[in-house]
Amino acid sequence: MNYDQNQDLLYEGKAKKVFATKKADQLRLFFKDDLTAFNAQKKGSFQGKGALNRDLASLFFSFLAANKVKSHHVSDMGLTEMIVQKLQMIPLEAVVRNFMAGSFAKKMGRDEGEKLAFPIVEFYFKDDALNDPFLSDEQILVLGIEKAAVVEQIKVKTLQINSLLRDLFSQAGFDLIDFKIEWGRNAKAELILGDEISPDSCRIWDQKTHEKFDKDRFRRDLGGVEEAYAEVYRRLKSVRENQS
Ligand code: ADP
Ligand code: UDP
Repeated sequence: MNYDQNQDLLYEGKAKKVFATKKADQLRLFFKDDLTAFNAQKKGSFQGKGALNRDLASLFFSFLAANKVKSHHVSDMGLTEMIVQKLQMIPLEAVVRNFMAGSFAKKMGRDEGEKLAFPIVEFYFKDDALNDPFLSDEQILVLGIEKAAVVEQIKVKTLQINSLLRDLFSQAGFDLIDFKIEWGRNAKAELILGDEISPDSCRIWDQKTHEKFDKDRFRRDLGGVEEAYAEVYRRLKSVRENQS
């Protein structure tokens, strides 16, 4: 009988597959080589992207753990997989912005690259059919998605992660322009950082040249997507090696 690669598959998303494991409280995330943009209207891929994003996500999670920020990461498996704590995901994308870029620049008719006076957190409802709409804090409360105290806790923890990541990127010669993270609750009802952090979900610019090293290279057909992701990993790995 052939080994079924998709045995125990619980969910296939745009960038990852989620598998059950023998342990009820753990999942296996498989990082795909696929790249999508504009709610999957634009599709692409490059060989080795899954492995790079797995390695980068793992590097970020271990960096955060070293700074007392817990995530779902348990261990890496093979080249493209990660064992994680199973979370009840909160259906919100928490976006941090340090600089003007992307949808914020577009909706305000501004140029990208202006440093914001202070970092801000925005929430988007995770729903592909609705195109992940922006939600104000009050909209989250009135819809009963989360309680005020949890929204506040997510904001505080998200900004703490921002300040740690900004510093890490800066040591690698990058500005962290903006990024998206997702939160969930584990079996003990603790609020835990889930999903991934990678160039798919961050804007990363070279501090000197302002060259882009993230998914905007794919979104905007700039070329050199693979080289950019590899360079982010190369520089951050070197920073982490010097830290330990
Ligand atoms: P999408 O669903 O947006 O297409 P992915 O392809 O990255 O995204 O799919 C991964 C899915 O797994 C996402 O829906 C994400 O919310 C979910 N997820 C991430 N980490 C966990 C976790 N620890 N427990 C349960 N679900 C998770
Ligand atoms: N982002 C993401 N997933 C999404 C939407 C946004 O990872 O579904 C990230 C995106 O890569 C960027 C940040 O969140 O780093 C802010 O994205 P923005 O709102 O500017 O939207 P975009 O123009 O990227 O669609």
